[in-house]
Amino acid sequence: MDKNCLFCKIVTGDIPSQKVYEDETVVAFRDIDPQAPEHILLIPRRHIPTTLDLAAAERELVGHIFLVAGQLARKLGFAEAGFRIVNNCNAAGGQLVWHLHFHLLAGRQMGWPPG
Ligand code: 5GP
Ligand code: ZN
Repeated sequence: MDKNCLFCKIVTGDIPSQKVYEDETVVAFRDIDPQAPEHILLIPRRHIPTTLDLAAAERELVGHIFLVAGQLARKLGFAEAGFRIVNNCNAAGGQLVWHLHFHLLAGRQMGWPPG
């Protein structure tokens, strides 16, 4: 827990959010500024700033996040139509919040290349 981190405060509930899933290691909640009809953020409870800060011991955690993303896609009804999972890392990657997160986007046709 980093006391200055927005997403750590969402994990603890100090900042409110629309949570759609949580377990011992992962929390998923709706993005405050959705870029698609469905826009969910999946985060580890533990404060890990970026993808580059992942340790080997966290490989299972990242795999778990992807399994949860697929479960949410099925549960929320957009699995068959399709979706996108995005991780922005550091400044040129477009990262704005320094707590590892994966965007789960769906509900419209995605473009390529991404912006
Ligand atoms: P990044 O650019 O770091 O990959 O994405 C950060 C995301 O966090 C953005 O999509 C932004 O809309 C979202 N976000 C920022 N502040 C809040 C907040 O207070 N609550 C929620 N639910 N999402 C937030
Ligand atoms: Zn944090």
